[in-house]
Amino acid sequence: MDNKTSGTTKGSQKPKRPYLTKKNGKYELKVRVSTGNLTAQQLLALKDISGTYGSGQIHLTARQEVLIYDIEEAHVEEAISRLEAAGLKGGSAGMRVRNIMSCVGDRCKNCAWDPAALARELDEKYGEMDLPGAVKMAVAGCPFPCIRPQLNDIGIIGRILPRLVDEEKCKGCGMCEKVCKVGAASVGEGKKSVTDYNLCAMCGRCVLYCPSSVRIAEKTGVSITVGGGGSWPVTEGPILVTMIGLDQVIPLVGKILNYYKENALSAEKRLRPFVKRIGIEKLKKDLLKGVEVIIP
Ligand code: SF4
Ligand code: SF4
Ligand code: SF4
Repeated sequence: MDNKTSGTTKGSQKPKRPYLTKKNGKYELKVRVSTGNLTAQQLLALKDISGTYGSGQIHLTARQEVLIYDIEEAHVEEAISRLEAAGLKGGSAGMRVRNIMSCVGDRCKNCAWDPAALARELDEKYGEMDLPGAVKMAVAGCPFPCIRPQLNDIGIIGRILPRLVDEEKCKGCGMCEKVCKVGAASVGEGKKSVTDYNLCAMCGRCVLYCPSSVRIAEKTGVSITVGGGGSWPVTEGPILVTMIGLDQVIPLVGKILNYYKENALSAEKRLRPFVKRIGIEKLKKDLLKGVEVIIP
């Protein structure tokens, strides 16, 4: 009978805790790991909780969270207290904003800004917000994104618009051409770097690797996709906006979440069917009103 139920609340006054799942008489405790970052001390606490109250088995989930397996019912409260003492809390589940993922961000040699900081800010502002369905979000530092934000309900993808700021100082070394993955940066006849903006993916690599610092980030921002999904059929979310400044992201994500909350039909448990029904053009019209757009 108790083969698979969520929480410990049946017949009790305690609030439902979707991060607890009962399976075969024991509990799985999901731990929220915003941006996938833990301290060594937190890892030690997870090891202790799993070793003391569970079976010593831990699983790393696809959404950068942690599952501690096989906790006896009598030890659930203690395990949660130990978790909280380590500065951690129950993981994400159900119809709300789920754990917000981030790539390794500014620790990556190809990243010119801090996507993990943005993901943490989003988590502080909207984490666990109740919605008509589950909303998964991911933030990547560049448009060659390791964590596939475009397969999330809301995908946030870092973009850097490059500019050659001082042609005279360009040494024609060819580094920008070498690191550009799409053939947009090249060293022309005059041994000076040129950019084909029709090809440029706005990844910022040429800016990061230019040894003379003559390529600069003219603009730093993000693209936003909506309605992507990783489950079959895998769907890339259409682009809501190609580039907005970083200061516009938190309010725009809030607008998307509230719009979904106010307009979703009961069957639309994810943004994918919602976006398909409303249509990306109408969403652009309704959601980008008042947003400072750099590239539509
Ligand atoms: S998404 Fe881009 S910036 Fe982030 S880790 Fe991957 S390559 Fe680096
Ligand atoms: S990497 Fe910098 S210095 Fe070298 S060719 Fe490109 S723009 Fe010029
Ligand atoms: S920003 Fe990226 S895609 Fe654009 S020219 Fe530079 S390296 Fe190439």
